[in-house]
Amino acid sequence: MLDCALIIFDCDGVLVDTEPTTNALLAACATEAGLPMSVQDSINTFKGRDLNEIVSELEARLARPLPGFLDTFRARMFEAFETSPPPPVAGAMELLDHLDASPTAPRRCVASNGPVKKMLASLTGARMLHRFACDITPGHLDGHAIFSAYDVGVWKPEPDLFLHAARTMGADPDACIVIEDSASGVVAARRAGMRVIALAGLTHAPALQDAGATRVISSLDELRAPPR
Ligand SMILES: [Mg+2]
Repeated sequence: MLDCALIIFDCDGVLVDTEPTTNALLAACATEAGLPMSVQDSINTFKGRDLNEIVSELEARLARPLPGFLDTFRARMFEAFETSPPPPVAGAMELLDHLDASPTAPRRCVASNGPVKKMLASLTGARMLHRFACDITPGHLDGHAIFSAYDVGVWKPEPDLFLHAARTMGADPDACIVIEDSASGVVAARRAGMRVIALAGLTHAPALQDAGATRVISSLDELRAPPR
């Protein structure tokens, strides 16, 4: 199944287990703004989506602007990442080890709806950033194969980020496999003409299947098993 030229990893929920932290903060900020919300509500409604769009939706629901909401949320998120760094997703480190041990392993990169600063913080905290060191260094890649939707100005579920990552890494879309944990990411990958393996968890398997996942797994460990 990992027979491809390039594996494009989503970051949050695929490499680093950030979703519990960020959704708890998002729910708290929304509740403080006057929209009571549980962590599960936040996960169900917002996971994998563009943060700017989320704030617009909250503003529409409250029928008033939320100046400072994004800044407050981001400040709390970076503080949380610093004080208690979210761990790697179960099986992610082992999968990277497995790929490194294979002489025919595909190239790999990370592509996230989050800003580069967030990816750098979470991947560094999980001790994974060096696993994406890369000799392709146009612009701000800064020696790492990490791509942010903020660089292209278009967010998943649009396909532009994945197409940008594939182009920069020198792979055709049909030679890419995306690993995602959100329905919006699955849709983005399919729109980009890529295969997509969806990791079920906070988003349940049927939703990922409905979004168009090529394959749904319940653990990254399944990707280390020999092909059936
Ligand atoms: Mg994700």
